[in-house]
Amino acid sequence: MQISPTSIRKRLMLYIGALVGTVVATTAIGVFTLSAVDRAEHDMDQASKARIQLLRTLTDHVSEFRIAELQRALADDEEARAEAEAEANEHSAQIDMLSGQIKDRFPEAEMAPFEQGFRDAWRAWRDGHAAWTAGDSRQRQVLSARSGVLFALYKATDVAIDQMTNEIEQDSFGRAPESAELWRQASAVMILLSAGSIVLALLMLAALRSGVVRPLEAITRALSRLAEGDRNVAVPEMHRTDEIGQMAKAFDVFRTNAMELEQAHLATQTAQAQAETLARHDALTGLPNRRMFSARLQSAVNRLDEGLGAYCILIIDLDRFKPVNDIQGHPVGDLVLCEVAQRLSAAIRGSDTVARLGGDEFAVIAEVSRQNHVEEATIIAEKLLAAVRQPISAGDSVIELDASIGIAFGAVAGAEPDGLLRAADIAMYRAKRDGRGAFRFFEKEMDEELRARATLETALKTAVSEGEIRPHYQPLVEMRDGRIYGFEILARWSHSGSDSIPPDVFIPLAEQLGLIPDLTWSILRQACRDAASWPDRVNLSLNISPVQLKDPMLPLQILAILSEENFSPSRLEIEITETALVACVETAKPILAALRNCGVKISLDDFGTGYSSLTHLREFQLDKVKIDRSFVQAMRFDGECEKIVDAILNLSRSLGMTTVAEGIESMDVARKLNDRHCEFGQGYHFGKPMPTDKVLELLNARRAATDDAPETSAAGSEASSVFRLASVESRL
Ligand code: C2E
Ligand code: CA
Ligand code: CA
Repeated sequence: MQISPTSIRKRLMLYIGALVGTVVATTAIGVFTLSAVDRAEHDMDQASKARIQLLRTLTDHVSEFRIAELQRALADDEEARAEAEAEANEHSAQIDMLSGQIKDRFPEAEMAPFEQGFRDAWRAWRDGHAAWTAGDSRQRQVLSARSGVLFALYKATDVAIDQMTNEIEQDSFGRAPESAELWRQASAVMILLSAGSIVLALLMLAALRSGVVRPLEAITRALSRLAEGDRNVAVPEMHRTDEIGQMAKAFDVFRTNAMELEQAHLATQTAQAQAETLARHDALTGLPNRRMFSARLQSAVNRLDEGLGAYCILIIDLDRFKPVNDIQGHPVGDLVLCEVAQRLSAAIRGSDTVARLGGDEFAVIAEVSRQNHVEEATIIAEKLLAAVRQPISAGDSVIELDASIGIAFGAVAGAEPDGLLRAADIAMYRAKRDGRGAFRFFEKEMDEELRARATLETALKTAVSEGEIRPHYQPLVEMRDGRIYGFEILARWSHSGSDSIPPDVFIPLAEQLGLIPDLTWSILRQACRDAASWPDRVNLSLNISPVQLKDPMLPLQILAILSEENFSPSRLEIEITETALVACVETAKPILAALRNCGVKISLDDFGTGYSSLTHLREFQLDKVKIDRSFVQAMRFDGECEKIVDAILNLSRSLGMTTVAEGIESMDVARKLNDRHCEFGQGYHFGKPMPTDKVLELLNARRAATDDAPETSAAGSEASSVFRLASVESRL
């Protein structure tokens, strides 16, 4: 973090520095002042002492001089006299010298008593002494006469010195107030300095409080409030760039981050809740989905196990919904489903559950009494049927629907939710089989059906994994000359121990069980191997289930098998029903385009049953259209059907597609189609689905037959070829 020049650290250092400086300065000034006072006092003392000492020395010499004078006067001989005189001279010289010193050391003002009192008396004495010594020293009278004068002079000097000494001592005393004044001044300076220091310290404390402590408290308070959940809290604007300013800014960033984090957390929670709802509800109708239905069913089963309420489940499958979706389009289909969902919800009690299991299939869990469960379930089913039967208006059209309902009771403890659902499902299929628009209760004998179905499922799984499903081949012929140009691969399951199961039964079951990809790849592989021994021009046509059209890997899987089995993609056709195409337009488009790019041809199977128009399917770039056998077979007796077949032939021709007529069972129909220039045909008339060895026989026989036949003109041979093939088959 970048700290500004006015940082708190610097400020604190400045404060502490100023405080320490003040203390040091106060102490230094105090010590200095005290020592100055002390020195001044000492100096004064020393000066007085020196002066007094000087004066005492002077007194001593004056006394010695007097003594020497007296000794001279009392001396007996000349020698003693001279000796005394020398000593007197000695002291006289000292006195003169000391007088000079006194003059130097004493201030001018204090010199008056000395000048007048001592100097004058001394001069007179010294002169008197000199006069005395110059006279007859042996005369005692003279001495005594002179001695009186000299003594008076001696006394005068002594008095003068005493007077000066006294004055000095008095002066010393007189200086005491001066020294006290010095002390007072020093104390005042000290007190002032201390007071200044205290004021300075208080000012710094105040600055510290307003500049550091208060803002820190404000930030701390804001943080506490933020921690308590108050997101609107803000630190007052500080207009500073130091650590506290940065801290305030950091707080703001922290608060913003916390708010954003909280919002993100809330958004995640909402998204989670939505995901939860989505995971448990059907996106279109908003009803509980299969997952939630299973959970509710499980709790209903548990309640029953605990001896609580009995319940029934109803599976409602809409009748005639598929055409609505296919003809009026998915948006209308969706609208209808939502309307039905609302009506079903309105028809049951709030405590019961209605769910959408998928497509046009709904389910209800309703609580019933143990005694009257059948009657109560009947009332519910009738209500539901009535709700569905009410016409639904969608845009300009009015849609009328019906439903088939299967009912199962959870009246016995220990029932399995899956088993109950399946029972209701079976009852619903029974209702559909019995003519739709009705409800059926699950019955015991249906249970056998249920079990049989379970057994079949297991057997089918094994059959697919063990490769028990084998391909059979049905000839596809050119109507013009009866030439076999290929075979449709049709799956056959020889179910050991019972009658063979038709593809109409096991193919939808395999679709439901997710076995269809394995099954398809298994028979395609076998077919490629079988076809390896057939002539190259013979094509294979493979049926692809609607569910497979949703798998983007489909082209890759087909091509991988073809390449492994060394079978040219140009020899393969795939058959897709128009219902399958319409159901998954968007995913099917790239899949079919990829296959076509590799040379695989696309046929539209069972055309005419799926409510779509060829023009609508044009964008898929199909190669062939297979007219459903129901139209072809009806051509024998129904003129209307002939017209429909005509229309299909013309339309597919105009769109650049060829046509295959399925289910040609008679010569009559074959001829009619050939007359209408239908290019290709398929049906029992040309050959039933057959195993591979029979295919080889047929191909060989056909080659022999064509070899035997005499060459005819193209026009004449067209009609006769149909008969020719028929005669070949009759030998098979
Ligand atoms: P599809 O694709 O329409 O196949 C033609 C069906 O018509 C075959 O029934 C065939 O035996 C039957 N058929 C052919 N000519 C005539 C005739 O002249 N008269 C009558 N009445 N029927 C004729 P099959 O083999 O029972 O197959 C039924 C359906 O099962 C097939 O209808 C196809 O949708 C499906 N299927 C069969 N094999 C496969 C397969 O390997 N994969 C897939 N996805 N579906 C298959
Ligand atoms: Ca087919
Ligand atoms: Ca067909």
